[in-house]
Amino acid sequence: MDINWLTDFIRPRIRSLVEPREVPDNLWQKCPKCEGMLFHRDLEKNLNVCYHCNYHLRISVKERLDFLFDEARYSRLALPEVAFDPLKFKDRKRYSERLRETKAKTGLKDAITAAKGMIGGNPAVVAAFNFSFMGGSMGAAVGEAILTAAQEAVRTRSAFIIIPSSGGARMQEGMLSLIQMPRTIIAVEMVKEAGLPYIVLLTDPTTGGVSASFAMVGDIHLAEPGSTIGFAGRRVIEETVREKLPDDFQTAEYLRDKGMVDMVVSRRDIPQTIGTILNLLMNPEAPSPSGDLEGAEMGRRAAGSSRSDAGKSRAAKNAARQARSALSAAKKSDKKPAKKPLKKTARSAV
Ligand SMILES: [Zn+2]
Repeated sequence: MDINWLTDFIRPRIRSLVEPREVPDNLWQKCPKCEGMLFHRDLEKNLNVCYHCNYHLRISVKERLDFLFDEARYSRLALPEVAFDPLKFKDRKRYSERLRETKAKTGLKDAITAAKGMIGGNPAVVAAFNFSFMGGSMGAAVGEAILTAAQEAVRTRSAFIIIPSSGGARMQEGMLSLIQMPRTIIAVEMVKEAGLPYIVLLTDPTTGGVSASFAMVGDIHLAEPGSTIGFAGRRVIEETVREKLPDDFQTAEYLRDKGMVDMVVSRRDIPQTIGTILNLLMNPEAPSPSGDLEGAEMGRRAAGSSRSDAGKSRAAKNAARQARSALSAAKKSDKKPAKKPLKKTARSAV
C-alpha cells in the first residue's frame, strides 16, 4: 500500500464527514404546529398534512384539484380578462408592478382557478383560491372568475363548489374590489335558483370580504381542520369588545360547534365527502356510496321536497349531517361499505 492511499482515500472521507454537505434547504420543513421535521416527498404524499400531528399546511390549487376530481381529470375554464390596475394604485410599490411580479413568481393569472370535471361521479364546477397569489385577495379578476364559473355550473347542470383561501378584499383595487362582494352573491344565487347545490369548502384562511360574501351562504359548509375562518382579526375584535376571546375562536371547529360550519373534514376525506353529498343531492336514486340507508333517505327527502329556499338549504344541511354520520359509521365499522340499491323516489334536484 503506498502513501497515496492516505491522500486519495482517507482524506476525502474525513473531509466528507467534517465539512457540511450541501443539502438544499427546501427538502425539509418544520411543521408550524408541532415543529416536527417534514420531508418534502412524504409531506407531498400526505397532501401537505403533517404526518406527526395532522396539522393542515396550505396546498397549491393544482394539487388540490388533482386530488378532488375523479381520476384527477378536469378541464380548466377560460376566465375573462379584466382591466389591469384600473386605479393606477401605488403604495410602497406600484400595484401594476406587484401584479407583474406575482404573476411571474406563481405562474398564475390571478388568485383564483376554475375547473370542471366529475366528483364522485357527479358533474361539478370548482373555483379554488390560491393564497400564494397576493394572499388570495379578491379583486375584479376573482369576482369575474366566480361569475364565469357559476354560469358554467348552471349551463352544464353541475354542482358549484368554491374553495376560498383568502385574506379578503384586494385593497389595491379599492371600490372595484368591494363591489365583488355583491357580484359573487349574485353569482351563487344563480346557481341556487337553478336548483343546483352550492358547496363551500372553507380552508385556511377565509377572512375579510370573502367571509362576508359568497363564502358564508353555501347550502353546505365544509371546513378543513384548524382553518382560521372569520371576518376581522382577533386583536381588532378584542380591542373593540374589550373582552378576552376563547383560544379556539375563529377556527373551523369553533364555527362547527356554533352552527356556521356543517362538517370539519380531513383533507384526505374531502373528495369522498363531497362525492357523497353530491350523490345525495343530485342523484338520489343512485346507491349510497356509504351504504347508509338512513343517510340516503335524508338525501332523498332533501332532493325530492319542493320547499321554500330556506327549507331547501335546511334540507341540504340535513343531508350533509346525515352524510357525515354515514361516513363516520363507515369508518367506525372499518369495513368496505356495502352498496345497497335504494327504493325509487321523486327525482327532482335540490
Ligand atoms: Zn405537526
